[in-house]
Amino acid sequence: MRKRSITRRWAINNLGVVLLILLTAELAIVYFAQYYYYNSAKQHLISKMNSITSALSRSAEDPGTNFSAEIRSTLENFTDKDRMELMAINSRGQVTLTSSGFTPGDTVTMPDYTLAMEGGQRSYGYYAGSLSSGERVMAVTYPITTLSNEYSAIRVIISLEEIDQTIITITIIVSVICIVIFLMLSSSGLYFIRSIVQPVREIGATAEKYAKGDFSVRITNHTGDEIGDLCVAINHMADELSSAETMKNEFISSVSHELRTPLTAIKGWAETIALEDDPETIKKGIRVINGETARLSQMVEELLDFSRMQSGHFSLQFDRMDVLAELEDAVLIYAERAKQENITLIYDEPEQLPIIFGDKNRIRQVFINIIDNAIKYSNPGGTVTVTADEHQGWARIIVRDRGCGIKSTDLPKIKTKFYKANHTRRGSGIGLGVADEIVELHGGTLTIESEIGVGTAVTILLPPKREKNK
Ligand code: ADP
Repeated sequence: MRKRSITRRWAINNLGVVLLILLTAELAIVYFAQYYYYNSAKQHLISKMNSITSALSRSAEDPGTNFSAEIRSTLENFTDKDRMELMAINSRGQVTLTSSGFTPGDTVTMPDYTLAMEGGQRSYGYYAGSLSSGERVMAVTYPITTLSNEYSAIRVIISLEEIDQTIITITIIVSVICIVIFLMLSSSGLYFIRSIVQPVREIGATAEKYAKGDFSVRITNHTGDEIGDLCVAINHMADELSSAETMKNEFISSVSHELRTPLTAIKGWAETIALEDDPETIKKGIRVINGETARLSQMVEELLDFSRMQSGHFSLQFDRMDVLAELEDAVLIYAERAKQENITLIYDEPEQLPIIFGDKNRIRQVFINIIDNAIKYSNPGGTVTVTADEHQGWARIIVRDRGCGIKSTDLPKIKTKFYKANHTRRGSGIGLGVADEIVELHGGTLTIESEIGVGTAVTILLPPKREKNK
């Protein structure tokens, strides 16, 4: 058992208290049983002695009665001879007559007699204890010095063997009951404690594994209580941690890959230009280097945005803004690239859109991300359509493509940062996540509908101008 284990604490605090209560209860029961039996016996002896002494006093008052003969006859005719013994003690403190006919020697000690003599005529002596022979007895002595010169007291004595036996039996029964109660309480308590301690140990061991990066294990606890809920929550946490871990690894590998591709192109073309004299080739090389550098800085910007969002430092400059102007800018940026990739980019420009309250640079960034994806995931010869209109007072922008589409199982996850459903195209996997966050900060929505092999439609809804969206 560990030093501060729950079982140990329970054993000391709980079982210790139970044990103390049971012991106290047992001692109290035994004490009261003994008190009751001894007191009943004592009262019985006293009432017996009362009736004998009152009979003797009546005869002592009669002048014609021989008192010694009267005592002798009282002892001889004593009706309870078989249960107790009646004795007459002479003025020298010796037992001279007994109801059993057997006269003990001088050596017998009689504390009750001494007490009775010390207490005077009106009191009596009582003693319960062991004789020199070891036998346990109870005795009551009444002084009769006023009734007779020859006799000083009469004494009645009973054996306590039967009463003590009854008390021992009661003690054994109470002890057995206490032991049974203790065993029942400790076994049910132990069962209960185990039902907590075992899963807690399992949780501890599993958490250790998680700390070491092993997310393959899950806690198998099937109880429907709070511990069960905790196990479910920890399993869920492990699922999340493991998918975050996978995502992080995928992200690192995809970002490294994404960085390597333009760097390789830049390095290759830089080396070519250094050795090249042909102005056409040099021009082409510079164009490629320019394009790849722009791609690199866009990716670095996305990463920075993501990091700002994670740390809560992503700030927006809200102002009245014209959505159409930003959308047109984004479409213009991609017109040339679409042409180069043999993709028809159709922009269905509306008359006007509601004025919104937002950050125009961030909104343009959203449009660029979405149109970039539409072109990136379209095949040569494909069409990307950008439409905008007013929908229930909101500005609605839809970017449709007839590209590869997204699997329905991937659809709920693609807005998650670093999630890439398609690894054949270049991208860090955070563009959509950042775009969605920006739209949400503007109080709008970004929804994606897609069918694999058919195409994708991204709908952005932005609320009309309000005092402040965030
Ligand atoms: P990436 O930089 O990889 O494009 P995004 O966050 O922009 O990252 O997009 C996440 C994933 O969503 C992409 O990897 C891609 O699989 C999918 N996706 C986004 N837009 C489209 C689209 N128009 N057509 C098909 N798949 C798309």
